[in-house]
Amino acid sequence: MSADRARLFRVGRIAVLAIVITYFLLPYGVRSWFPVWLLFLLALGLEVDFFVGGWLRTKRPAPASDAPDRGPQQRDLSELGSWSYWDPSEPTPPIAVEPTFRWHHVAEAVAAIAIVASLLYLASRPSGWNAVSSQRQAQTEAILSREASTIANHPATVTCDKKGDYVGFVQDADGLAEVGGNQAFLTPSICNTLYQLAVKHRVQSFSQTARAIAVLGHESWHLRGVGNEGLANCYGFQSGVQIGQNLGLSKSRARAMMQEQLATNASDSGTNSQYRVPSDCRVR
Ligand SMILES: [Zn+2]
Repeated sequence: MSADRARLFRVGRIAVLAIVITYFLLPYGVRSWFPVWLLFLLALGLEVDFFVGGWLRTKRPAPASDAPDRGPQQRDLSELGSWSYWDPSEPTPPIAVEPTFRWHHVAEAVAAIAIVASLLYLASRPSGWNAVSSQRQAQTEAILSREASTIANHPATVTCDKKGDYVGFVQDADGLAEVGGNQAFLTPSICNTLYQLAVKHRVQSFSQTARAIAVLGHESWHLRGVGNEGLANCYGFQSGVQIGQNLGLSKSRARAMMQEQLATNASDSGTNSQYRVPSDCRVR
């Protein structure tokens, strides 16, 4: 196995590792489109190619060695460094056949496969809402349905859309509700943030929690019959102060969160001016 070849495959390993790390850092929505086993196959294929290819090379008849110069080869010189090692009276030792199998190559391959496998295992492990037990998921949906029903003024069901059929990455929406209807959908990410707050009493991040509460408020106002997106946002922020408290926040924290949502509403809406709240909207 030539040194060049080993070096080439080392570059290959680093490239595969870079691809896997990039994959690991991608948002879950993008990751779920790409099968994990394909990446593992890529890493495995590289190692199989390395060892099987190396083995096949040794099976090939070695080129007839023509040794016109019995003196030191250039490579020997660079390795040994000096002519003083070479005594012309001594017979030239036979050119050592490079060993085809080296333990450090195996160690490197095993390490590469192990790193790729553990990264992919971590990446494919259920996380966020998918890691929440079905019992806790049902408990969370019941809590959110209760909040939505209170605002809607009629019984309503909040469902966390795990499959992304109604909301999420593909639909580019965090929530969905029929105006005046009794069914709302939230993304797993919004559900997870609200679960962390209501059940685990954790605020993952101020802005993320604020956003999740605002989305629940917004969809609840749709269920109540408000079709205007800007108004649903304004009423959602206002109701969010109570929702936040019902889910375990202090009044001042819940209010600060909704005021932050109101303050960033214009920039959050971007070019979607229909989501802008009326200019006289206030959160108290
Ligand atoms: Zn809406």
